[in-house]
Amino acid sequence: MKYNQIGKTKYKVSEIGFGAEWIENKEYSEIEKLVKYCENEGINLLDCWMSNPKVRSNLGKAIHKNRRKWIIQGHIGSTWQNEQYVKTREMDKVVSAFEDLLTRLQTNYIEFGMIHYVDEIKDYDKIMNSEFIEYVRELKKDEKIKHIGLSTHNPEVAIKAAKNPEIELIMISVNPAFDMMPPVLLDDYFDNDKYSQNLGGIQPIRTELYQTCLENDTAITIMKGFAGGRLLNKEDSPFGVALTPLQCIHYALNRPSAKSILVGVKNIEELKETLKYETATEEEKDYSKILRTAPKHSYLGKCTYCGHCAPCPKGINIAMLNKLYDLATVHEDIPLSIREHYNNLEAHAIDCFGCKHCEERCPFGVEIIEIMKKAYDLFGK
Ligand code: SF4
Ligand code: SF4
Repeated sequence: MKYNQIGKTKYKVSEIGFGAEWIENKEYSEIEKLVKYCENEGINLLDCWMSNPKVRSNLGKAIHKNRRKWIIQGHIGSTWQNEQYVKTREMDKVVSAFEDLLTRLQTNYIEFGMIHYVDEIKDYDKIMNSEFIEYVRELKKDEKIKHIGLSTHNPEVAIKAAKNPEIELIMISVNPAFDMMPPVLLDDYFDNDKYSQNLGGIQPIRTELYQTCLENDTAITIMKGFAGGRLLNKEDSPFGVALTPLQCIHYALNRPSAKSILVGVKNIEELKETLKYETATEEEKDYSKILRTAPKHSYLGKCTYCGHCAPCPKGINIAMLNKLYDLATVHEDIPLSIREHYNNLEAHAIDCFGCKHCEERCPFGVEIIEIMKKAYDLFGK
């Protein structure tokens, strides 16, 4: 299992995380087996947004013995009312639901207290100017949460959060389809008409989000990596082709600042399928051939950072250089962090002598030599 550092915190999370949302209706024995399997395979990140008391208690019982092995993202603002999940900003309900989370998880603290499901700027602004954020700060001061995080489906909200030094971790939905859609509310992500109207190249706001996170050392953990399963079958996929789970995971983890993908699995068989990622060949993980030949919404001409153009005889890490170039061009001035990352590359655009080997290998028809020239102009080497 590969582990990634979360910003300036002391925590390193497994690149495959345990998104527990599908275990809601499972018996304890099944949950225990899943948790043990995760522990044995080195999975150490757990997301618990669910407010159902039964699932919280079952999870708490299952992780109790090995609590220290886990890094928990627990949500603030996810409540249980009249036997159902309700997102709320009503403080009495928020407070009792969070206390309930700690009690049922059998722990005094969680590593990341996630401000739950903030999909609108007005909701974000309200939270940041109300007793909600005061409560979150109090939790941090009392060490009931070690760090503050936020979950959202909206890149505009995520950018605001990434610029806020109090927020060190953002959980957001990432997959090739969502990356191509302008900011919309969650329901619209699953609306077929919206897909046909809106898909058209990676949205600049997504690039801006990745850049902002890189600049501020804000970590991203990923949910909905399979677009709720839609990308896994041809009929539902907006690309007109099915991707495999390994391809979706690889796409998600290739995004700048992405540290872990939280996969929602229902049983050990699904977990095993996901864990194949750790030993999969480059060919099995390769999403490029699918996206390149997609009958709809092709990524042709756009770098997806797949790495197929390697090796460069001059040792240029073309995928990384392209990523930094894309991130740098979002704003008028190059952010210092991006320049530093660029300077730290082993070889630079200036080293390119135009042999074209990379372009022959790029499945997306990216004009790499052109990018090298532009990167040289931009970065000066
Ligand atoms: S230039 Fe082409 S092959 Fe290289 S990383 Fe980008 S999309 Fe992949
Ligand atoms: S064209 Fe430039 S970047 Fe591409 S392989 Fe040749 S030297 Fe490397």
